[in-house]
Amino acid sequence: MLTTAINHGIVIDSQNKTKKQLHVGIQGDKIAVLSETPLEAEEVIDAGGLVVSPGFIDPHGHVDGELYAGELSVCQGITTTVGGNCGYSPEDMGEFFKEQERKGFPIHQAMLIGHGIPLRNRAGVYDRYKPACDEEIEIMKETARKAFQDGACGVSFGLDYVPGCSIREVVELARLCAEYGKICPIHTRLLTNEDLYSLYELILVARETKADILISHFVYQYCGGLCDPGLKMLEKAQKEGLNIHIDSGMYTNWTTYFDTATFDLNNIQNNNWKFSQMVVATGKYKGQVMDEELYFRMKEECPHEAVIFFEGIEDEIYECLKKPYAMPSTDIGAYDKGEGHPQIAGTYPRYFREMVRERKLLTLEEAVHKATYLPAKVFKMEDKGVILPGKDADITVFDPAEICDTATYPHMGLPDARPRGIPYVLVAGETAVKEGIYTGSRSGRPIRK
Ligand SMILES: [Zn+2]
Repeated sequence: MLTTAINHGIVIDSQNKTKKQLHVGIQGDKIAVLSETPLEAEEVIDAGGLVVSPGFIDPHGHVDGELYAGELSVCQGITTTVGGNCGYSPEDMGEFFKEQERKGFPIHQAMLIGHGIPLRNRAGVYDRYKPACDEEIEIMKETARKAFQDGACGVSFGLDYVPGCSIREVVELARLCAEYGKICPIHTRLLTNEDLYSLYELILVARETKADILISHFVYQYCGGLCDPGLKMLEKAQKEGLNIHIDSGMYTNWTTYFDTATFDLNNIQNNNWKFSQMVVATGKYKGQVMDEELYFRMKEECPHEAVIFFEGIEDEIYECLKKPYAMPSTDIGAYDKGEGHPQIAGTYPRYFREMVRERKLLTLEEAVHKATYLPAKVFKMEDKGVILPGKDADITVFDPAEICDTATYPHMGLPDARPRGIPYVLVAGETAVKEGIYTGSRSGRPIRK
């Protein structure tokens, strides 16, 4: 007897971008059968009128073992997340994975080792405005090697957060990634928000090392009118044979921690930013629009809170995500309830609402492909991103006519308001979301590469 059957749904072939009414049978944590006739099982889900998609794979998040971020992820249809991004990760991957395995987690987690913290710190380079010397780079490489052996899937960079980092540092770590068949997601370094040199230096790294490069949250970096020339540069580099992908979210307004180099006064001044473009996302000043007085008060009192920065041209979001080498991503952070940025709860439902239903920029099948098969391929997750017998039973069932986000910015409402139109999510064959509500399941596993 099958454990679960999902009957009468429209099953998306995420690889070939086609769809067909089929009945999906699950045995344990694997997909067992695709059938032309309805199936019997211990638990039967009627997916009549609904889409049956592989679970979404979020190529860029900061879930990193935080339970509430895992819950918000699964409620928006994500069954696998890649963590340790933007240069921030735990150092001991073996220990991290062991703990996640012991406690269980709502979704599967792959992890990157971060170049900023921990690699730079392990090498004793604490000054973000200083490059590392050769000896220090060797220590970073040694630490990264150990993380690879423990299952990390690559090295992440947050170059905006370490403006003083040398290209050599990036090249050496990217070369190591290429050697081990690992990936390099890079949050680029813009010295002003008109800075396309940030892409040149990344193309240089790709050319020099032949590493697989993923540019993180592309629109957050280039939404001020640079997306078009930026994408053209990337496409030229791809024609050279360089393997470069991008991930990008559904918002132009981004968030990061107040104590990063991003919100250092010199960076604010270099970019000609105004305090009024910032809204506090977490903590006691949550929802307040920044002014000079609050800026300096927070620097003293609570530098670790997250702040949202409002900027950008909305159309850039859609232009980027239409590209065949672009994948949707959340950039989700781990915050307390009621705090943060709407990306933590709204990204994927918003992606299907805007890109497919309302703007008709992607077909349903194309949109599913980019949220499932493509990230599985880029991160070499062979058993994920498709609905086929023998593959992992990570499945998201949604209503294409209803799927939508309800989350908003903290000065307007709830950033963690749940989406609508995603009634079922299965993680490793277990029902993690039922009738739109998280069940409390912990069937997610570490993905050791
Ligand atoms: Zn980032």
